[in-house]
Amino acid sequence: MSLSSQNIVTYSPAYTIVPTYECFNRCTYCNFRSEPAKSLWLTLGAAQEILSQLKNQNICEILILSGEVHPDSARREPWFERIYDLCLLALEMGFLPHTNVGPLSWTEMEKLKSVNVSMGLMLEQLTPKLLNTVHRHAPSKLPEVRSQQLQWAGELKIPFTTGLLLGIGETESDWWETLAAISESHKLYHHIQEVILQPHSPGTVQTLDAPPFNPHKLPEVIAKAREILPADITIQIPPNLVKDENWLLACLAAGARDLGGISPKDEVNPDYPHVQEQELRNILEPGGWELVPRLPAYPQFDDWLDAGLLQKVKQWRRRFKLPPAQ
Ligand code: SF4
Repeated sequence: MSLSSQNIVTYSPAYTIVPTYECFNRCTYCNFRSEPAKSLWLTLGAAQEILSQLKNQNICEILILSGEVHPDSARREPWFERIYDLCLLALEMGFLPHTNVGPLSWTEMEKLKSVNVSMGLMLEQLTPKLLNTVHRHAPSKLPEVRSQQLQWAGELKIPFTTGLLLGIGETESDWWETLAAISESHKLYHHIQEVILQPHSPGTVQTLDAPPFNPHKLPEVIAKAREILPADITIQIPPNLVKDENWLLACLAAGARDLGGISPKDEVNPDYPHVQEQELRNILEPGGWELVPRLPAYPQFDDWLDAGLLQKVKQWRRRFKLPPAQ
């Protein structure tokens, strides 16, 4: 089996832990957040209990996904320390952490690099127009702040995942501009491993009254993204947000090759349960696709990981019988 085979689709066997749901942003499409200081933080003891139950389940990735504490808040430092400690705990218990907790300072990002095999931040859309609509009360959604995160990840040599949120009031040309910006950043640093194309899928909590992104449009966006993005960036789509099997297959035909982290719950879209592995196989195999697990760090980034992280990555590669890095 070779991961370069044309008919292979990857996914990451994952579990999401949430340090806190509190967030100082108020994106109108959000189905995740609670008010600042109104959500109890996950304790290390509770996290240890959760992680203990995941042992021997072939779950490699722990996605650490958090609401944001304001950079000027006195609680920012304890928030960051909790995230760092959760990463360390996950690592020590044999998992591979991937953190996505909003914009970080350079120092925070540098510190998290030592306890993560990769990290992520959605660019969503770079158009400033959204600051007047869905991001009117979301100070950390400033396009220049998010672009800078991509740049810093590159300078720090952090394997990085980013992506677009589609259907939140942007235009088609906004998609191509955001994809072009990702492409330009990657050409400078070669650090983007995946780009997620996430269709807006309304949930029961959000205040935004907008229709879902038309899934029939997604293959077209994927095909154009494939033209814009360098070939070594994988395009990821979330299968729970593309419910029609034929359109999921159409997305693969258009160039998507990864289905992201498959965990018991999609914390960002809690109204859309993840399609589990066997069900995905049942959809993909008749279409000629083979579903194989992958790790949260792609093999081309082995040289960027410190020795301890690389050792754990290699253990998982052996466990999943994945080919060694070239
Ligand atoms: S989408 Fe993310 S940044 Fe926006 S309010 Fe929700 S948790 Fe906060």
